Amino acid sequence: MIQICLATNNAHKIAEIKPIFDQSFHLLTLREIGCSEELPETGNTLEENSLEKASYVFNKYNIACLADDSGLEVVALNGAPGVDTAHYSGTRDAWQNNQLLLENLKETTNREAQFKTVITYISPKEIKQFTGIIKGKIALNYQGQNGFGYDPIFIPDGYEISFAQMDLALKNQISHRALAIKQLLAYFTAYNLL
Ligand code: IMP
Repeated sequence: MIQICLATNNAHKIAEIKPIFDQSFHLLTLREIGCSEELPETGNTLEENSLEKASYVFNKYNIACLADDSGLEVVALNGAPGVDTAHYSGTRDAWQNNQLLLENLKETTNREAQFKTVITYISPKEIKQFTGIIKGKIALNYQGQNGFGYDPIFIPDGYEISFAQMDLALKNQISHRALAIKQLLAYFTAYNLL
């Protein structure tokens, strides 16, 4: 079975990604490969940051690697917070980030937004990126307790409930992250990498 490191320190991302991979791979966490440092994220786009994190781990630890970089893009804010999603308010505190976003949308009726994930897969043979996007809207207030980050204020199109009101199984059928991973799995299947 192929061993792949999942290059994230975000326990929520690990919890979401692991079940999607079912038994196809042996996914190792950063801790399991002995990496305890912060991964570099100095790019100006999700694509650059995803590649930077994956390359760092691949080059330093010599193991095939997956990195996810994700962001929330709000139409009325010209795509912000985008690449700054994790620290929109100047902190990494989810509540403060959500509060600032709700505040910044107070004067507008356009609540359209999308979540985007860019997954980079890097191995000795290839570097590939896969993008998943889910469109939706920003809720007027917090809804739900599940998930993480902006889940309580993001309502995907076709649903009346936020990501935070869904169980993991439902979020994992439709989310930006799940869509990117499904493409990665299709790539592995097409090229007999499983
Ligand atoms: P990064 O991909 O580690 O740079 O972090 C992006 C930030 O986007 C996270 O810290 C979360 O705040 C937010 N985020 C990414 N994916 C999700 C999601 O599935 N639900 C809610 N927030 C998310």
